[in-house]
Amino acid sequence: MTLAFDHSYARDLPGTYLRVAPDVAPAPRLLFLNRPLAADLGVTLDDDHARDWFSGAALPPGADPIAQAYAGHQFGGFSPQLGDGRAHLLGEVVAPDGRRFDIQLKGSGKTPFSRGGDGKAAVGPMLREVVISEFMAAMGVPTTRALAVVATGEEVWRETKLPGAVLARVAASHLRVGTFQFFAARGDQARVKALADHAIARHYPDLAGHDAPYLAFLDAAIERQTALIADWMGLGFIHGVMNTDNMAISGETIDYGPCAFMEGYAPDTVFSSIDRQGRYAYQNQPLILGWNLARLAETLIPLLDPDPDRAVEIANDRLATTAARYRADWTRVMRRKLGLPGEDPGDDRLAEDLLTAMQGADWTLTFRRLADAGRLRPLFTDFTAMEAWLPRWRARAGDGAARRLAAANPAVIPRNHQVEAALTAATEGDMAPFHALLAAIQAPFTEAEPYMLPAPSGFGRYVTFCGT
Ligand code: AMP
Ligand code: MG
Repeated sequence: MTLAFDHSYARDLPGTYLRVAPDVAPAPRLLFLNRPLAADLGVTLDDDHARDWFSGAALPPGADPIAQAYAGHQFGGFSPQLGDGRAHLLGEVVAPDGRRFDIQLKGSGKTPFSRGGDGKAAVGPMLREVVISEFMAAMGVPTTRALAVVATGEEVWRETKLPGAVLARVAASHLRVGTFQFFAARGDQARVKALADHAIARHYPDLAGHDAPYLAFLDAAIERQTALIADWMGLGFIHGVMNTDNMAISGETIDYGPCAFMEGYAPDTVFSSIDRQGRYAYQNQPLILGWNLARLAETLIPLLDPDPDRAVEIANDRLATTAARYRADWTRVMRRKLGLPGEDPGDDRLAEDLLTAMQGADWTLTFRRLADAGRLRPLFTDFTAMEAWLPRWRARAGDGAARRLAAANPAVIPRNHQVEAALTAATEGDMAPFHALLAAIQAPFTEAEPYMLPAPSGFGRYVTFCGT
């Protein structure tokens, strides 16, 4: 058994966390263990240790559990104190390739940051995080990963009584925009600087020794976030809670709560039951990206220039590049999705025009089937606009388009009705549908019925919940 912890966050950043032990799960049962991920991390362990270590039933040797402080803008309103209210960072592991990862338990009990919450999580939402994050990983989208899910043997109360679970989550770090905000809001510039130094060392080591390291850090964070949101848009992914406490400085997708994938293309799609204004609707994600980056930049102002007015100007100059960078990233993503070779100045217009023509059609399969009119047409109730668009696309895409489409566009995504069916079964004790779904989404380019099919018409409008 090897699982060797380091604790660079706790070492570098005293005063940004509280030491607190996870709850002891009364009757832990291992539901999921990500063996390939464990191997990548250089972690070897058997099922019994995984069950005990990743449920809080027993702490792994060398673990030093902490709850991290953070703040956050939630749906636009600032909460100065959030923090890990149901999570415990056990420590960091350094993989054989030298990369450092946090191992955090989620759903592992109350902490001083819990406010009114019970500190717990239910089986369904934790397995949901596994399915969606494994799909992101399979598609090459930066994401936190799920190492294990353990049923605790406890019941948790949500709308109803549910089986409890703990997720062991692997992340490049759990530094959030909200971590910076926590200390900036308290005027603690020394800790903001220490956080920035830690983030640079950990996520942007090339910037060490830069003559303007904090501006370069802001710039690099903008770069990764714009690329990430462009990836989300390409997949039809709707995060659902793009609050600043759910935006990782590493550029990974984090905090899979009410997230889901859009099926029929509708830019105003919202799934989360609590997002009544549609703040985090599909089409708003690139705008929220810019808004959240502005919140990060604000925390860094004192580090950018001794003259506050000059510092604001410097930050604004950088933030002003976000929209154009996002546009370039989006165009790159769409070029791949459309199977276009090389680059042409008209590519983003071609992509935009497809969006206009494909309203209501299945987001995923439309791209997958562009070269196969016979299978494309049934996805549409009205094909007229596509009839006009397709010849333009064919002329631009040229030879080999079918092969490029198949390599860029997934056949299988976590379809909402399949995810629901798998999680419902798991909640009732049957893990087979979950494992079958997981296997399908881990090989997203392999056409596998029934997983590639859109929801049956009777499935209705999909609503997701935070699962908190
Ligand atoms: P989230 O919406 O999951 O990103 O969480 C927002 C905040 O609420 C964070 O500070 C979480 O730690 C906290 N939180 C969410 N669920 C719970 C829970 N069941 N018990 C305690 N705190 C929670
Ligand atoms: Mg969160």
